[in-house]
Amino acid sequence: MDSLEELERSARELGCGVYQNEPMDRHTTFRIGGPADLFLVVREKAALREICKRAWKLGVQIFPLGNGSNLLVSDAGIRGTVVSLGGEFQKVALCGATELECGAAASLAKVCKFAQSRALSGMEFAWGIPGSMGGAAFMNAGAYDHSLQETVAACNHVTLQGEAGILRGKELQYGYRRSAYSENGCMITSIRLKLRRGDPEQISSEMKELYERRKRKQPLELPSAGSIFKRPPGHYAGTLIEQCGLKGRQVGGAMVSEKHAGFIVNAGGATCRDVLKLIELIQETVFRETGIRLECEVKKVG
Ligand SMILES: Cc1cc2nc3c(=O)[nH]c(=O)nc-3n(C[C@H](O)[C@H](O)[C@H](O)COP(=O)(O)OP(=O)(O)OC[C@H]3O[C@@H](n4cnc5c(N)ncnc54)[C@H](O)[C@@H]3O)c2cc1C
Repeated sequence: MDSLEELERSARELGCGVYQNEPMDRHTTFRIGGPADLFLVVREKAALREICKRAWKLGVQIFPLGNGSNLLVSDAGIRGTVVSLGGEFQKVALCGATELECGAAASLAKVCKFAQSRALSGMEFAWGIPGSMGGAAFMNAGAYDHSLQETVAACNHVTLQGEAGILRGKELQYGYRRSAYSENGCMITSIRLKLRRGDPEQISSEMKELYERRKRKQPLELPSAGSIFKRPPGHYAGTLIEQCGLKGRQVGGAMVSEKHAGFIVNAGGATCRDVLKLIELIQETVFRETGIRLECEVKKVG
């Protein structure tokens, strides 16, 4: 029995969902990506610790998946195992007067609604970001001059070796679209958010207003992974791309959005290869015309 088969057997014993050669285009908002050798749905922390421990011993690599909204997965797929969290990791609960404990698999939408319904302010900016709490805490997701680092007080995680741990405050090393988790390989299991008292009506109207802004400016009608590039200091990637005349430029099924040049959309049947070629074309053109290097925000996997 090889390492993957052994891990698969353990996962079944632990009550996880187990899928072989799972097409990743089903799990990414880009609708792109070949098969993952093994795809596990883990629903309890004890099982997650055991899976990590065994994968570590067997030398099988684990890729933590959130909602797949910031991923570009290779057409050849992902070797090793993808771990997706479900079950208890989807819970959101109030703890103390203004704090929430959010499972890593809870969607940002669920957390935003929950906070609004409890008259808690601080997450309005995240309404409309299609990620999970785990993915958002990993990425330090942000919009409209705010980001997760303003509200995250602590993250619980499981290490690559299967140990439970926690990072608080400065230990989270938040920066622009990065965190301590960008390097440490741990799987975030839950996030403690520190919010403040607010007026539910006002919170709700701010959420609506920001969502309307999104709908007006972003190509939400087509599959994408959001902004493909990070914001270069002092500029907007979308504006630079538009100024270089690249709006609507297409490689295979991948296209620079006509609505927002910072987005590459899957206009139909795009492959990872198409997107990578288009990214390269954009980076070369923008550098040639402006001297600015665009760095990818989207995570390339596999
Ligand atoms: C239409 C659209 C609009 C968007 N708008 C915004 C925006 O305004 N602002 C913004 O910041 N982003 C935006 N995004 C990008 C994306 O939604 C965010 O980056 C989001 O935080 C990613 O979360 P996810 O759960 O989908 O993570 P995934 O895409 O699944 O994963 C992203 C990274 O996080 C890691 N990860 C996920 N879960 C865990 C976990 N539990 N433990 C450890 N690591 C984990 C993954 O391994 C991967 O490296 C947008 C995307 C789309 C499609």
